[in-house]
Amino acid sequence: MTRHFVVIGPAQRKCGVVAANYREFLKKCRKKFNLKKHEAIIVTLDDRTEVDKEYFRVLVNGTELFISKAKDFETVDYIHQLASFLHACLDRQPQLHNKVMSYLQEPVSSKHAATLLEVIAKNTYDSIAQTSKDNDPEWFKGLDTRFKTKEAVMRNSAETRMRSYLQHTEGELLAKNLPPDSPQKNAILFFKEKLHKSKYNASYFDRSAVLETERLCDSQGTFECEGPYNQPKCPGIHYINPYASREARIVFSTWNFDHVIEKSRSIIPELKAALSGQRASSVNLPYFYDLLFLHKNPSRAALKTNGNLKLVHIACHVKKPHECKCKSEKIFLDQHNEKDGPSPQQDTKPKQQRVKRPQPNSCTSQEGSKKLHRSIDCWVQNDYR
Ligand SMILES: [Zn+2]
Ligand SMILES: [Zn+2]
Repeated sequence: MTRHFVVIGPAQRKCGVVAANYREFLKKCRKKFNLKKHEAIIVTLDDRTEVDKEYFRVLVNGTELFISKAKDFETVDYIHQLASFLHACLDRQPQLHNKVMSYLQEPVSSKHAATLLEVIAKNTYDSIAQTSKDNDPEWFKGLDTRFKTKEAVMRNSAETRMRSYLQHTEGELLAKNLPPDSPQKNAILFFKEKLHKSKYNASYFDRSAVLETERLCDSQGTFECEGPYNQPKCPGIHYINPYASREARIVFSTWNFDHVIEKSRSIIPELKAALSGQRASSVNLPYFYDLLFLHKNPSRAALKTNGNLKLVHIACHVKKPHECKCKSEKIFLDQHNEKDGPSPQQDTKPKQQRVKRPQPNSCTSQEGSKKLHRSIDCWVQNDYR
């Protein structure tokens, strides 16, 4: 679908760009703003939320987008954030003061700046406790005026992420015209109903959620990075409290839900294949729902769910193919149904190896020569999230 965007380039130059997809958009922007191919660029909204390929799909006509060179983006971003944090913390936190000073004496690098920000964000900050727009108007700058509390904004943010996973799945499953009663449409309907019931997991980001198991932060709003998909803990000191300041809220948008079993490379292709096979009516939809939308909460694992989402700092987000796949024995509900060949007991090879898969997309510049990972079963396309 071709859409029109208002684009503001590096030297505040403004122009219109019409594009059908992310690739075309990037290509046209490079041309308009004279950006060389090897120069990494970043696309953001006006609140500096990064727009990637996936996010790009759901943007509406006329959205204003900003293009920056990746290196400028980082520098400007960190300095801006540092400036607004430093003042508030230095005179009230002697220990923090020392830490800040020791960092500043080292050669400046964005890694330390990031660490610094997180340490500061974890520490008390005047406005953390404030909830309403009247008491902390700065925090709400640039947001839709309908939001009156920080909690409402954060709930909306969690919900938006869930909706984007749903939209992505819907886009993939309903790509061709299907009859109203098709397994694909039923699956989407199932996900929608379940999401509706769970309020689109909005409570994940809501510090006021009563049950601790419903939210991923503490009651102050501090989130802790859950570590790379294949590690039990975060090896760094990644904390953030998006309730603390506008800057922290914006930085929090770079924290991602990482699907341990990957959405694009594993979950969606497996689901797609299962729904178009002979056993489409017995696909284990609750399993796929958990993989797509449910947090991998250790205490929930005890309840035998298949939660699959980890909230991670950008440094702990592994973008290379993950070595986790859908469990073949969970894809269908009736494992002893033999319509589709031998039962799993006789069949030692996992089901997915017999399923035909789409070819990898031709790559975009960033990952041009990426090698196919050995877990080729899960490979679908280049997707940076
Ligand atoms: Zn981390
Ligand atoms: Zn990921």
